[in-house]
Amino acid sequence: MRALQLLADRKLSIVDVPMAAEPGPAEVRVKIGAVALNHIDVWGWRGMAFAKRKLPLTVGAEAAGTIEKIGADVEGLKVGQTVAIYGAETCGTCPACHAGRDNLCENVAGVRGFHVDGLACDYVTLKARHVVPAPEGVSVQAAACTPITFGTVQHMLFDNAKLEAGQTILIQAGGSGIGTAAIQLAKAVGATVITTVGSDDKGEKARALGADHVINYREERFEGVVRKLTKKRGVDVVFEHVGVDTWAGSVFSLKRGGTLVTCGSTTGISAEINLFQLYQQQLRLIGSFGCRIENIAQSLAKIAAGVVKPVIDSTVPFENIDEALDRIEQRQVFGKIIVTL
Ligand SMILES: [Zn+2]
Repeated sequence: MRALQLLADRKLSIVDVPMAAEPGPAEVRVKIGAVALNHIDVWGWRGMAFAKRKLPLTVGAEAAGTIEKIGADVEGLKVGQTVAIYGAETCGTCPACHAGRDNLCENVAGVRGFHVDGLACDYVTLKARHVVPAPEGVSVQAAACTPITFGTVQHMLFDNAKLEAGQTILIQAGGSGIGTAAIQLAKAVGATVITTVGSDDKGEKARALGADHVINYREERFEGVVRKLTKKRGVDVVFEHVGVDTWAGSVFSLKRGGTLVTCGSTTGISAEINLFQLYQQQLRLIGSFGCRIENIAQSLAKIAAGVVKPVIDSTVPFENIDEALDRIEQRQVFGKIIVTL
């Protein structure tokens, strides 16, 4: 079968590899249909000093496909069913996994496509508990946007930040893959959405997704606009994933007792924090990484119900992945890029 492998930093190649193993009793084999690209793929591709991994490595962290073969002890799944695949190789037996908190697994082998072989290949064999069936009518491309994009945002907004109807949220980089998901998920629960974008074109698209206020951060200081829009009160929740470039402004945008939840640092990892502001304003800063398996099912259900819809920037064949990763790195994307096999 074919696999898209990283051979060295910035060097990807389609390689012939042995067929994925026959599924064990508690496993399934999935025929991959679509892979969604994320910033973690850009990091993996350009090489990250702190990532423990062995090359060559099959890339692809977020994907969906159809079940091709089922292990003897697996119940509740059928051949031909569309499934989304959990993005990390977790143990399933530790207390965190038992509690449904796979993203706190004590024995995690790593993120697929980053630390361990990923999903950009024809077939993959994995634990049945790591696949989540998509309801009827959800396409494989849409399902491919749930394990990381929608799952991560669902976990950030509702498990962590407890976003509710009537609250106001600042969503950084609303044109990104997770930004477009966050705008829709926040609007769907009845929150007021303020979002930042890097161009007027992206601003129009963010508005079309439901954003109530759009700030072009290249033209205006977003924290000043947020203070104005909230009558100096600040927002209930800030959705962060940009990092050092926006950190101070994001913290400044919070109301007293507000919550900042972050899952990324695409512009750099070191930022300062004003401790006086942190305790005096009683701020809550929450780090979030990945999601629970249930967050994928919740996301798929919302897509099936038409509450949210993945924004697909473009669909590219396997061969053009370099160009696609380049565009993500340059921020020339609105929504998700999907790689098809
Ligand atoms: Zn575990």
